[in-house]
Amino acid sequence: MDLMEKLVSLCKRRGFIFPGSEIYGGLNGCWDYGPLGVELKRNLKQAWWDDMVAHHDELATLPGAPSPYGMAGLDSALLMNSKVWEASGHVGGFSDPMVDDRETRARYRADQLVVFKLAFVGAQSGETTVDDILFAAPGEVGKTADEELIAPHRKRIAALQKAHPGGQLRLDPVPNALGDEALRAKTLAPGASAPGTLTAPRAFNLMFKTHVGALEDNSSVTYLRPETAQGIFVNFKNVCDTTRVRVPFGIAQIGKAFRNEINPRNFTFRSREFEQMEIEFFCRPSEAGQWYQYWRKRRYEWYVELGMRREHLHLRDHDADELAHYAAGCADVEYDFPFGRSELEGIANRTDFDLRQHMQMSGKDLRYFDDQEPDPEARRYLPHVIEPSAGADRAALAFLCDAYSEDEVGGEPRTVLKLHPRLAPIKAAIFPLVKKDGMPEKALAIYSQLKKRFNVFYDEKGAIGRRYRRQDEAGTPYCITVDGDTLANDTVTVRERDSCAQTRVAANELGAMLAERCGG
Ligand code: ATP
Repeated sequence: MDLMEKLVSLCKRRGFIFPGSEIYGGLNGCWDYGPLGVELKRNLKQAWWDDMVAHHDELATLPGAPSPYGMAGLDSALLMNSKVWEASGHVGGFSDPMVDDRETRARYRADQLVVFKLAFVGAQSGETTVDDILFAAPGEVGKTADEELIAPHRKRIAALQKAHPGGQLRLDPVPNALGDEALRAKTLAPGASAPGTLTAPRAFNLMFKTHVGALEDNSSVTYLRPETAQGIFVNFKNVCDTTRVRVPFGIAQIGKAFRNEINPRNFTFRSREFEQMEIEFFCRPSEAGQWYQYWRKRRYEWYVELGMRREHLHLRDHDADELAHYAAGCADVEYDFPFGRSELEGIANRTDFDLRQHMQMSGKDLRYFDDQEPDPEARRYLPHVIEPSAGADRAALAFLCDAYSEDEVGGEPRTVLKLHPRLAPIKAAIFPLVKKDGMPEKALAIYSQLKKRFNVFYDEKGAIGRRYRRQDEAGTPYCITVDGDTLANDTVTVRERDSCAQTRVAANELGAMLAERCGG
């Protein structure tokens, strides 16, 4: 089993993540978080809110710092007036190019279907290209191993290999093949029996359409939001008018977003329903560059602070040709997932594009009045916006991948989730060493006390070693055991998950210890 299979299996077995609507065969791209998963995701969102919004004290120490009211929160509706999505560009442009296979009925994102031709390089015979037939395979040019590309066509290629004995196989990607009718006609799709079954790419809008009210006509159409950001932009004026925020300041929101992804895949990485954690940080146009630099570093460091290994995290600046037409800069925080390096979060300098679009579409003046600006002519302007946009589900998956580990303790293999204590679903498990001599009563008393402040767990069943193992798999950082000495001197053993080191701690210090290490 590869790491991803092991993780998916652990998530199911221990109640982190279940396939959505499982008893009915599931619903592709939808996932349900179980009792441990919901705690992990809540802790993650809380850590983001605490660090970025409620206690983002560092902001006040920076040059050009925000006022003490630097970050404000918001919870806007999921359904919005469809004009919002016209103004934002989502109705016209939020689409992926899609191709269908007429034979197998499979649907692909055109940019994720690599078309390649085969070349056989022989020691004596030189190079022979097989160009009467091209092969299409899901993947990304340059990212996917050749083996994976070959897999769907193994039989066909083996036959060709026979015709070129001793030849070394090489795969040469053919750029833009799917857009070219003649090349498409020669392309063999995965699982198809003959070439030429793929349709031309066409734009597929990713928004889920719905109707508001009883009438199902064009006037009642709206969409499930594909991002939380637009809820922030349309409330920009409301927040300015009702709070003491002064530029620079940020508005933050956590909430569900929906995208009818053509190919949901890689567990929760690409889902059709997911949660975003987004900030729109409004600043003076002249200071946008400096705030962009601040947020791109700050967001990268946040993952490291929560225990993600630096060697698995990358901050990638977009090339000029990758940037949206309105963006002045964009960087992705990427993580080395078991299925390849992929985006965790994007940080973009969106200039004044969104506010300008909404000002035009709504006819409302969304300009900000800056009474600190010395030049009276320049006091009214549209702030520029830096947008750090993260996915809660993708982050949870990355933290799970990073935390998953297998080692050996006392000669026995164990699986352990080395989650940061702030993220761990259960902060501590409390065990009586044995089920007698007053130990369960004492352990239950400690449990009831700690439960008032922390998510803790009580377990008295089975051998102590097995109880430790169960908590290791759940990512619980501390196991507290009540033993014979506890009744004599009111101390307990605290076993630390990663090192398995055990220390003796006074029972009345446990609350302070957990608060310090787990936050809370
Ligand atoms: P991708 O290129 O992977 O489709 P994107 O660039 O379209 O992502 P954004 O629109 O920038 O993504 O969304 C911001 C964040 O929202 C992403 O970095 C990711 O964490 C999260 N996100 C976007 N789409 C999905 C999805 N289908 N499933 C889970 N999370 C998602």
